[in-house]
Amino acid sequence: MSDTYEFYMVTPLMMPSAIKAAKEGVTAAQTALLMIERTIKQIEDHPLQCMCLDCQTDFSSRYQPGAFAVVIPMFPHAGSQAVACGVCRDCVDRSDLEDRIIESLRTIWPSGQFTEVAMQ
Ligand SMILES: [Zn+2]
Repeated sequence: MSDTYEFYMVTPLMMPSAIKAAKEGVTAAQTALLMIERTIKQIEDHPLQCMCLDCQTDFSSRYQPGAFAVVIPMFPHAGSQAVACGVCRDCVDRSDLEDRIIESLRTIWPSGQFTEVAMQ
């Protein structure tokens, strides 16, 4: 059985709307913010690499991601999990960014189906 994931790109400009939606009880926004917070904490402890496949940028407390790719299981079950992956500032503007990230995600979840959702 393959898992289905919803995939959101969250940029700093979208954060105020994400926070507002989370306060209004939108579960996806609440999960996204929680995952982003967790990823930012992880970056402070250990450097994390940019999510785009062919970019070797490491994030650190001094170089934070320019956006986050948030992946949320559509039908959560034991063993499925949401994650937020950092995207560096250079890669945020790439036209093939979504394809690159989905390819990276497939290395983590080979049978995953990813549906991009525009966050309001
Ligand atoms: Zn990058």
